[in-house]
Amino acid sequence: MSSTPHGLGAQLALSLALYAEILKGKFSRWFGYLQSLPYTDVDIPVFWDLEMEIGPGSRRLEDGREALKWLRGTEVWKILQKRSENNRNLIEELNDYYHETAEMLILRHRDKISSQFPVTPTLHGFHRAYALVSSRAFIVDAYHGLCMVPIADAFNHESPNHVHLESDYYVCPECGSLHECVHDWDNPPTVLGIDLINTAHKAVAIADDELESDLFMVSVTAVPSGVEVFNTYGETLTNAQLLTQYGFILEANDNDTLTWDIYQLLHDHASGGEQRSVVDIGALWKQLCPSDWSIVSRSGLVYFANADMNVITSPLTLNGDGKISHQMWLIVSLHALHRVGKSFRNETVPTLSCLRNLLSTQMILEVHLERDETEGQVAGPIDSYDFDTKLLKELEELCQLMIHLCADRKAKTAFSGTIPEVGEYFDTLSHEKPRTRMAVSLVLNELSLLDSCQIMWTGLLGMVRRVGEWVP
Ligand SMILES: [Zn+2]
Repeated sequence: MSSTPHGLGAQLALSLALYAEILKGKFSRWFGYLQSLPYTDVDIPVFWDLEMEIGPGSRRLEDGREALKWLRGTEVWKILQKRSENNRNLIEELNDYYHETAEMLILRHRDKISSQFPVTPTLHGFHRAYALVSSRAFIVDAYHGLCMVPIADAFNHESPNHVHLESDYYVCPECGSLHECVHDWDNPPTVLGIDLINTAHKAVAIADDELESDLFMVSVTAVPSGVEVFNTYGETLTNAQLLTQYGFILEANDNDTLTWDIYQLLHDHASGGEQRSVVDIGALWKQLCPSDWSIVSRSGLVYFANADMNVITSPLTLNGDGKISHQMWLIVSLHALHRVGKSFRNETVPTLSCLRNLLSTQMILEVHLERDETEGQVAGPIDSYDFDTKLLKELEELCQLMIHLCADRKAKTAFSGTIPEVGEYFDTLSHEKPRTRMAVSLVLNELSLLDSCQIMWTGLLGMVRRVGEWVP
């Protein structure tokens, strides 16, 4: 089997190793640790629809199925349905790995796992091992990759945190050496045919034992006495990621974002002849991105996302303040320009200047909008600027597209319920339905992000139309 240090491949391999240890029972050298692991606490949505986890007709199963209905169209749903290279979603990946690899390996080596008693692997048992890996494993260093780390996994998550796990990550990925080793040489020398790499491996293994295999749980801030000590599972984790990996959400999470992928955006916003191919936009994007978009940092509606500039892979994002990423602004603006009548096909330079003018106009109007809101009065005509009617038309189109985009996403979430309706339902929900409560609370949060985005663009649209009336 080839080894993968992180990602789903590493999680699956570690789940198998952990499951084999669990099957060994008290003959495992990790028995004490394994006994400390929770049996049912890790309640992740990927298993919420499975009868075998809890038996048919149970309340937990009904709760899970209701929760999954709520999660349709949310960021959690996207994670659960995300297709791998093999075109399989998460549960299919887990089940296929169990049936194609894990079960067979365990059965083939059942004598080594236990000569004392018969070992019978089950899919349910493997699922539990995966849930433990998903919620408790750490990436230790470049050599060990993803690991279960006793004691380090005992801390709950909160941000900011009190402690974190520390290790020297950049060790040699081949032998784990912290210092210079034979793998640093391009052409390892051989002396009289002696395999220096093997010899070096042995030397390194000894050195490892002596000084290098240390992991530390380090406090990063003062910890007052009598409080629970928290770790962070990741400083940027959204509630959707927390729920799918760890089975819980935070009441308020500043990291929460909504994402669109470019295929979805093009599909939702274009019809027939209007539809641009991703390749077209990808090529244009490459020419647009190196230019300076720092003016965006002054916007209340758009933020500069310092992410990968590859339009095909980078997500188009709405952040926790209801602002859209500059990548998303670019895509929706391109579409607005196109709808108003400027084709951007093979016309990069004119489009670039059109986009710049559009952004400048937006920024000027944003300043006026802000002034209106803070002074609580409607400003008079803005005559110090010479507004171009076409630009205003394009900006109006951009606002309308953004408003439509939010409304459309809201309509696809939560059975089209409004925030007050969903909020009211949440208040009636029994605490015996923890899964549905988490799902509905997550939906409420997504709806309110969409709402604040929609309100801001509606405000800008109003301003654009007012200015439009003043322009002769
Ligand atoms: Zn090495």
